[in-house]
Amino acid sequence: MTAFNATKYNKSFIWVGNDYLVNPETAAKRCACCKKLWYSQEYAEAGGFDDHKYPVCNRCSRKKKNAEKIAKIIEPLGVTKECKKCGGTQPIHNFISRLSDWIVINIYCDNCRTMPKRKYD
Ligand SMILES: [Zn+2]
Ligand SMILES: [Zn+2]
Repeated sequence: MTAFNATKYNKSFIWVGNDYLVNPETAAKRCACCKKLWYSQEYAEAGGFDDHKYPVCNRCSRKKKNAEKIAKIIEPLGVTKECKKCGGTQPIHNFISRLSDWIVINIYCDNCRTMPKRKYD
């Protein structure tokens, strides 16, 4: 894992044709967990936040050992979501799920997703 380096990134051209990376002209966003800069596309889309982006990057969110730390970051922000299955309203970090190498905000809470399609870290 490396912190964001604009010069290196621009020269690498790894973002060309990659839907998960963006043109270097666009803004980067600092992760509330690892405090590093990543391009905004590396954060899940999430209504309720000013920039409509989840404050914690994909890399941090994918790691189960970060769960407690992330809960402490997200809960005070007061952003909640209603589960489409059980109808319960919970802090939004209880809806983060993995989609391939990416994270997304699921419509079901953690408790309702008892049969994950993929293996988690
Ligand atoms: Zn992070
Ligand atoms: Zn639920």
